[in-house]
Amino acid sequence: METAPPRVAIVGGGLAGMAAALGLSQAGLKVTLIEARSKTGGRAGSFIDPTTGAEIDYCQHVGMGCCTNLLDLLKRTGQLDAWRRYRSLTFIGPAGEVCPFAGSRWLPAPLHLMKAFSGLSYLSQDLRKTIAQGIWKLMRLRPEDQANWPTMQDWLTAAGQSEAAIREFWDVILVSALGEATDRVAVAPARKVLVDGFLSHRDAGDVWVPQLPLSVLFGQRLPDDLTRRGVEIRLSARAVGIESHGGRATGVRLSDGSTIAADYLLIATPWHQLQNVLGDASDAVDDGDAIASIPASPITGIHLWCDRTLTDADHLAFVGRTIQWLFRPTFASDQPGRIYHQIVISGSRDLPPRQQLLDQVVGELRELLPAAREANVVASRIVTDPKSVYSVSLATEKRRPAATTRLPNLWLAGDWTATGWPATMESAVISGYRAADQIADNLGRSSGNERPALAKSWLARLLVR
Ligand SMILES: Cc1cc2nc3c(=O)[nH]c(=O)nc-3n(C[C@H](O)[C@H](O)[C@H](O)COP(=O)(O)OP(=O)(O)OC[C@H]3O[C@@H](n4cnc5c(N)ncnc54)[C@H](O)[C@@H]3O)c2cc1C
Repeated sequence: METAPPRVAIVGGGLAGMAAALGLSQAGLKVTLIEARSKTGGRAGSFIDPTTGAEIDYCQHVGMGCCTNLLDLLKRTGQLDAWRRYRSLTFIGPAGEVCPFAGSRWLPAPLHLMKAFSGLSYLSQDLRKTIAQGIWKLMRLRPEDQANWPTMQDWLTAAGQSEAAIREFWDVILVSALGEATDRVAVAPARKVLVDGFLSHRDAGDVWVPQLPLSVLFGQRLPDDLTRRGVEIRLSARAVGIESHGGRATGVRLSDGSTIAADYLLIATPWHQLQNVLGDASDAVDDGDAIASIPASPITGIHLWCDRTLTDADHLAFVGRTIQWLFRPTFASDQPGRIYHQIVISGSRDLPPRQQLLDQVVGELRELLPAAREANVVASRIVTDPKSVYSVSLATEKRRPAATTRLPNLWLAGDWTATGWPATMESAVISGYRAADQIADNLGRSSGNERPALAKSWLARLLVR
């Protein structure tokens, strides 16, 4: 007689929950994905521009070549065609210098970066030397020594990096990659971004940019693929507690009073929602209170509709300015005299009030981009999510939990769990794949969802500790 497949309930339809759903459906489990909102995608979502009806991302998301798990998820669910790979970036120097940043395609990593570095014409010879010495010290830093400095800024200062070197190089790379200021982030995630994202492999620093709104990618295409694989997706269903019996989780209680019975349970909500889902069973997770109080870091998206295009580039990184990135999404349904641009500011804790901020960024655009000198802003919207990502401090790193809990059939996932990655789509997908692999292993079923990092080049293996 055929036995029914084991049932797994996943709470949270962000990237972590959906990655787990993919892995678990492939392992033959009956998967129910429970999402409180009317769409999946979580923090990677969009809003509707009331004037054009276009779907616009709350905040531009980009992946990198080193995001092997995110790229794997996109490939397996047939979505990679909707992402464009860029092998070079453009930095706008402090005085408006236009600097291409592209690694060599034939030198082994990390030597390939010498070419990229030489493009940063706004850096003086002295500053280049200082930064090169800093990169060398970072490569030679032993992983076990990373916790010796409270913040990356402390390490940079100890490594002889001047204020100018930090402002004009390290901050440009680190603040947007980590979603947090260098005087708060721990050394380990900062080093991970630089080593895995730039120094180990020629493709690691490629930038992958979605060519469709996030709500289409993660709110339609990805859940459609999961549904075709047999995953049941319950939208607008809020979990308010878990049921347990005999030391095992037995189901999820929803706010409408119903219960979804399950043999396995995975909670993939943000860290600050975990306790709400655990309900009475909060002691199932060690240090639940400490997890709930992990501090957050805000990211701000400034949506600007201008009477003309401000740049021909698809994206620009700004050095030492309030603006960190400017994007020109191709799908934003521009209309004559109403051209969409998005500015992204990570770690945006200390921004001035709305109008002052708008004046400041428009002033910077006019000063630095020739095409912006005569431009007028016809509409704007500023969106700050105060809990965009968790703050990747040393204290936070210590609080990030593993996927397992005190209950043998209850797992955790989410970008905030202990993946080794900062709060990114890659961390979310790793966490979902990892939980799926552990549940499948527990059942003696095939797993192997989690992908390894890009292999280090022969030279990086010699140089990077
Ligand atoms: C402004 C901003 C910019 C970003 N930029 C980038 C970027 O450029 N690159 C990058 O890699 N990452 C970026 N990130 C980070 C990235 O969005 C997250 O790391 C990732 O989406 C987290 O996925 P997740 O599944 O772990 O969590 P979430 O996306 O938060 O998903 C959790 C889901 O759980 C649901 N939920 C919560 N409580 C309940 C409940 N009680 N019952 C049912 N469902 C519940 C939520 O509604 C949500 O859908 C950015 C984030 C923000 C906010």
